[in-house]
Amino acid sequence: MQLIAATQNVDKLREIAQITSEFGMELIPMKELLGDLDIEENGSTCAENSLTKSETVCRLTGRPAIADDSGIMVDALGGAPGVMSARYAGVHGDEEANRRKILRELEGLPMEERTAHFVCVISYVHPDGTKIVAEGICPGRISFEELGDGGFGYDYIFIPEGYGETFAQLPREIKNTIGHRALALKKLREEFEAIYGKQEGDQDD
Ligand code: IMP
Repeated sequence: MQLIAATQNVDKLREIAQITSEFGMELIPMKELLGDLDIEENGSTCAENSLTKSETVCRLTGRPAIADDSGIMVDALGGAPGVMSARYAGVHGDEEANRRKILRELEGLPMEERTAHFVCVISYVHPDGTKIVAEGICPGRISFEELGDGGFGYDYIFIPEGYGETFAQLPREIKNTIGHRALALKKLREEFEAIYGKQEGDQDD
């Protein structure tokens, strides 16, 4: 099955493609069909924003589309940055400034008060009206400083529950197993199987 990926974010594309390829799905970046389209995200939840993106791309291309909307929720900040994750420090996509802002705001807080979770909502929309919304949540804590070099966004300051290192320090396979995006994609796969039956190339786990 071919899917149009409703994202311009190469890091997300890489993570989604690593997983969808295991399911026998071919991911086509929306850029190939629609160029540098900017889809406005003004919903109040990741689910709303995810659906806005997949519905728009499905409508414009007439083909099945998949979208990801994600963010990090920090308990001590009342759930912020949440849907504002990409522009928390003011400039959309300034990941370093976003991380620094969180570290500054949590300054002085002990590890047990630095709880947070990543959320990812993957949505799939087919021109025949089929819609799937799959959410994945990954609990953890915010580190005291940026650590690691193998990730993107908030990976450098997020220590997943049960581990002592950030996602940027841990091997990629761990994030692809316990990460919010991996969990959302796993649910999506289950929904796919319920609707379409097993696809060639799917693996049992
Ligand atoms: P959006 O989903 O494109 O609105 O972006 C969400 C924000 O959360 C961006 O700043 C991303 O870098 C960040 N983000 C989303 N997923 C991850 C992840 O897996 N690791 C680190 N940061 C992420």
